[in-house]
Amino acid sequence: MNFLKKKNFLYKHCLCVKNKNGDIMSIWNKDEKDRKIKQLDQNISVDTLIIGAGITGLTTAYYLKTSNICVVDASRYGHGVTLNTTAKITYLQGRVYTKIKDAKKAKLYLQSQKDAMQELTNIIKTLKIDCDLECVPSYIFANTKKEVEPLIKEKNFLKDNHINIKEGQLPFKITSYKSFYVDDTFIFHPLKYLNGLYNFLIKKIPIYENTKILKIEKKDNSYICYSQKYHITAKNVVLACHYPFFLYPFFLPLKSYMEKSYMLISKVNNYSKYNCISSDGTYSTRFYKDKTGIYQICLSESHNTSVKQNDAYHFKRVKQIFKLNKKNIIMQYSNVDIMTPDYMPYIGKIKDGMYIGLGYNTWGMTNGVLAAKIISDSIKEKKISYQNIFNPKRNNFFKMFIYIGSQLKSYIGPKIIKNKSWYPHNVYIKDGLGIYIDSHLKKHIVYNKCPHLGCSLIFNEKEQTWDCPCHTSRFDIDGKCLKGPSKYDISYKQV
Ligand SMILES: Cc1cc2nc3c(=O)[nH]c(=O)nc-3n(C[C@H](O)[C@H](O)[C@H](O)COP(=O)(O)OP(=O)(O)OC[C@H]3O[C@@H](n4cnc5c(N)ncnc54)[C@H](O)[C@@H]3O)c2cc1C
Repeated sequence: MNFLKKKNFLYKHCLCVKNKNGDIMSIWNKDEKDRKIKQLDQNISVDTLIIGAGITGLTTAYYLKTSNICVVDASRYGHGVTLNTTAKITYLQGRVYTKIKDAKKAKLYLQSQKDAMQELTNIIKTLKIDCDLECVPSYIFANTKKEVEPLIKEKNFLKDNHINIKEGQLPFKITSYKSFYVDDTFIFHPLKYLNGLYNFLIKKIPIYENTKILKIEKKDNSYICYSQKYHITAKNVVLACHYPFFLYPFFLPLKSYMEKSYMLISKVNNYSKYNCISSDGTYSTRFYKDKTGIYQICLSESHNTSVKQNDAYHFKRVKQIFKLNKKNIIMQYSNVDIMTPDYMPYIGKIKDGMYIGLGYNTWGMTNGVLAAKIISDSIKEKKISYQNIFNPKRNNFFKMFIYIGSQLKSYIGPKIIKNKSWYPHNVYIKDGLGIYIDSHLKKHIVYNKCPHLGCSLIFNEKEQTWDCPCHTSRFDIDGKCLKGPSKYDISYKQV
């Protein structure tokens, strides 16, 4: 707990801890040291520009390391969605294989996840990255009676595909009607993995941080990518930026929705060597230890961001589900990922020279590495695996209508419910402005509209941010954009 006291950023009414840059801290960056950051400081020209330095971007850079490339990140590397992941490296992903329905595609998806695990562990071994990689069993359990039959189907699918299933009770107390496990899966420390990649890559290629790409223009056979001050000309652009900051050419809002989950980090006495997920994917846990202690990471209450949310309630539910003692909880934060209608990611070319890797359905440790491999192989004009099932241009047309509905709901919903009682007493919305009053009675005023597509923002009481329910841009209480797709801040200057 010393790191919390020392930094003195513990808010009175919430366990959300922020560092001095205003970023929400997670279990993975709690001991992070300050370091010098290099911003783009001139116009440059490269063969390939990678936008985004999370697991997708830096792993792509690793595969392309001998070419003329550069990486940019709007913030610091590893400080996007990857920072708040639970970091299980597993092919046991809830009931994904039976949800995919088409058995041939499900089989390929399973194979792709196993390949990605192999790729990731190979990189870690080759570069000797000290990232707490550990082989631990992955358990799956039916958390309701209704889940038993579908879970048996999932087990049969895995058995039919030569997965060595082990029968066994869950190693911890939670309501479970059936469970099994596999023992060839891993956990690791995602930021230490990215630190290892960064330290290796920075000797070979430029990596610019605090460099946000705001616009991309096609000129002749190249793309000109404009940041705040300078631009980068590139023949190939890899969009590894999680939710893209532009609408055209991919129209992602019509092909996906955003899912938000809530995490509590609890100090515990004993380290347990397993990770676990419920068959409906709603409960998930793993352990982590370092020199400061042993921690249990507990995740639950996942929901589509377009439905009304009450963060305080969701965090309380996680505490109840995992029977956590309030005294031991040291951090709480939420995280969002992009979900796709067919449970498989969008990876590959969206236009000549433009590649995308996203829509990992909360399984980015494997799918981010898979995207890196597929995209780098495409750029190198090598034979590509899994091109058909992950093709970003595949037809998800039927499901599009559901997503249009959910986008509209999140666009209109907050407009109707704003200013109602579920906002805390020190937050209100007036004349299109969001007003937060802090404990010194200072007013922090922001525009209440997301600059991305105009959705009204919702105040997130626990993490003290303004959140977009449509595509999950986030802003701090003074309007600084913490997470895209918004390219702009929402600060309001009083005159
Ligand atoms: C609650 C939760 C738990 C999860 N647990 C697991 C797990 O146990 N196992 C697993 O496999 N997966 C898990 N995931 C999924 C996984 O964390 C994500 O899919 C993955 O981290 C996404 O990585 P990324 O590199 O694509 O995106 P990010 O890590 O978000 O990286 C994108 C980067 O792009 C930068 N960027 C954005 N816009 C711009 C711009 N305009 N210009 C420049 N840079 C830009 C950002 O600053 C960011 O650093 C979980 C997800 C959630 C939500």
